[in-house]
Amino acid sequence: MNKAISILGISCSTLNFQGALQAMLEAHNNKRQTMLLTLNPEICLHALKSPEYFKAISGADIVVPDGFGILFAGRYLSSHRNFFRWLYILATPWITTTSGPFPQRITGIDLLTAFLNLAEDRKIFLLGASEAVNAKLAEELRNKGVRIVGNHSGSPRLEEEKDICRMIHQSEADSLFVAFGAPQQEFWISRNLQRLPHLRLAMGVGGSFDMLSKEKSRAPKLLQSFGL
Ligand code: UDP
Repeated sequence: MNKAISILGISCSTLNFQGALQAMLEAHNNKRQTMLLTLNPEICLHALKSPEYFKAISGADIVVPDGFGILFAGRYLSSHRNFFRWLYILATPWITTTSGPFPQRITGIDLLTAFLNLAEDRKIFLLGASEAVNAKLAEELRNKGVRIVGNHSGSPRLEEEKDICRMIHQSEADSLFVAFGAPQQEFWISRNLQRLPHLRLAMGVGGSFDMLSKEKSRAPKLLQSFGL
């Protein structure tokens, strides 16, 4: 069992990127369904204000740190309660990524990209983003040989839930990626995961479909490395 750090009551794993990816790939063989959450400060703040959201994300089986703020919080929370140590931590935020309990920042888009490259026999469903983005990405991935068994843009509205669930169920997908943005995607997964028994893995991926389909670009590498 990997170590975890509690950030505002949310237990965040100290897995590294490879460990998290491995857990995603192994989810296929687990009896229990796996919900993966990439935790960022916005999610923490939302959970602080909304007990319903806190409950929804508490159901996540794997939580990984996505964001400089989470790495910083981990470093702060796991340090000795000593004034000079705290001062040192506050004065040296730029070394956060290498000296805290979390080995690295793990983003949803990086995990999703690595999973799509390795998940040869996984049956994948892409839910969310605009119709154009969703369709474009599904087609591109199918052309590359990724087994996209279903895709739908849809929306997180409750009225659509039943039809979307039917679609996912009929596709027999085992891996679901939901791009509705936080907090809607976590609510959606938490409400529906158990209704979809074929699913072994579900993960909210925010704007990842937009970036993978090149509709939006990621921040330049240099800015990313500074946590911006
Ligand atoms: N989105 C959607 N339906 C909605 C609201 C949002 O499909 O009702 C999609 C939107 O098109 C975008 C993604 O959800 O692809 C949200 O991306 P964003 O970067 O805002 O999410 P974050 O990564 O900040 O959670």
